[in-house]
Amino acid sequence: MSSHGHDVIVVGAGPAGLAAACRAAECGATVALLDDNPQPGGQIWRAGARPPKGKAARWLRLAGERQVGWIAAARVFAAPAPGRISIERSNGDIDLGYRNLVLATGARERFLPFPGWTLPNVMGAGGLQALAKSGYPVRGKKVVVAGSGPLLLAGARYLRGCGANVRLVAEQTGHSTLYRFARGLARHPAKLAQAVFLRAALLGIPYLSGCWPVAAEGSGKLESVTLRRGGKTWSEPCDYLACGFGLVPNVELAALLGCRMGEAGVEVDEYQQTSVAGVYCAGEAAGIGGIDLSLVEGEIAGYAAAGRPEAARKLFRARQSHRRFAAALAETFAPRDELRTLPQDDTLVCRCEDVGWGRIRGFSTWREAKLQTRCGMGPCQGRVCGGAVGFLLGWKPESVRPPVFPARLESLMRAGDPE
Ligand SMILES: Cc1cc2nc3c(=O)[nH]c(=O)nc-3n(C[C@H](O)[C@H](O)[C@H](O)COP(=O)(O)OP(=O)(O)OC[C@H]3O[C@@H](n4cnc5c(N)ncnc54)[C@H](O)[C@@H]3O)c2cc1C
Repeated sequence: MSSHGHDVIVVGAGPAGLAAACRAAECGATVALLDDNPQPGGQIWRAGARPPKGKAARWLRLAGERQVGWIAAARVFAAPAPGRISIERSNGDIDLGYRNLVLATGARERFLPFPGWTLPNVMGAGGLQALAKSGYPVRGKKVVVAGSGPLLLAGARYLRGCGANVRLVAEQTGHSTLYRFARGLARHPAKLAQAVFLRAALLGIPYLSGCWPVAAEGSGKLESVTLRRGGKTWSEPCDYLACGFGLVPNVELAALLGCRMGEAGVEVDEYQQTSVAGVYCAGEAAGIGGIDLSLVEGEIAGYAAAGRPEAARKLFRARQSHRRFAAALAETFAPRDELRTLPQDDTLVCRCEDVGWGRIRGFSTWREAKLQTRCGMGPCQGRVCGGAVGFLLGWKPESVRPPVFPARLESLMRAGDPE
């Protein structure tokens, strides 16, 4: 195990992490940027079959020019002492020291359980898109895209571009709420242009508002999905259901470091500093808001972590405008109450530990349910069922313990040992 010190370490190389690393390095700080993926870019710019272009290419180029130290396929699984993190890689584990830490750990999709949601070929909307980006063949496959939020449109467009036969997009938000949101887009011209572009790219594909999946069926794997809209319920044959109900922030590492949580994610001050001095948080871990908010928060965190608060302050206004948009998104695409009625007693909620809805719905806290049923205690450590029980039962995670990701025994034994 080697031991190094950096002025700034950035965890997560999505838009927020890249922006933070570039801005900190530009101020003369020694910066390490690490991510558990082999390539930088995060969820949206992850390297795939196509080379990065536009904003992605610009930020990736800037990181090279600013000599940001890139540590690939490196997963932070513990924080053994103040100023140190433990990282596992395929070729061995390392322990790194930092003066300031920027957490840009992003978000994951929220899955809500309904009968059949664990059948093979029922996937996250972003998940199927990510698979397609890495070359998974979807050409000619019948795909239903369902759930909530703009990610459905982005996913449907990408899948169609890969040759998938996208049958329809089912958005659970109702028509009048969507209409109000669309009218408000006039205040955000770039977002309006993006929405128009996406809708144009999906011409011919029905976009059904106020529509959601109630069951997925198939023997051995998905064959059809039952959808509900208004008083009507019908079955739609498909090979894949790409389904996600918005995003939930990845806050486990921040929680492990003792950072306070807010309603939307990790709580931060105006410089993106968390309640722990020297630990910053930017991007979707601090609240879901899309790529532009992630970028500007990353820049602010990078400047602040490198000791340039005056440069950070110049970006406060831009951040405010993106935050307003994020608030409108959250309000518009909040999951509707009817989705709480979808799981049946035998519907799995925790798929790692095979715990069904009937076994957990009687408990009053997640801790109680964990103790009695092991719900949320499997390999994903509640990353999948946590978002679901948060919505279904209002439960919040009560404690996080290391390792925040499964790690090799050898790594666990050596974590925090500088020798
Ligand atoms: C599956 C999915 C697909 C999406 N697709 C689109 C899309 O098509 N269009 C769109 O506009 N928006 C999309 N979004 C939303 C978009 O990704 C975000 O708005 C934006 O990427 C947020 O940037 P970020 O830097 O905050 O986080 P991210 O881009 O999520 O980057 C966070 C990075 O941190 C890494 N990480 C987390 N924890 C650790 C750890 N402990 N150790 C090491 N690395 C870690 C993650 O692997 C990830 O690479 C998608 C989101 C998801 C979850």
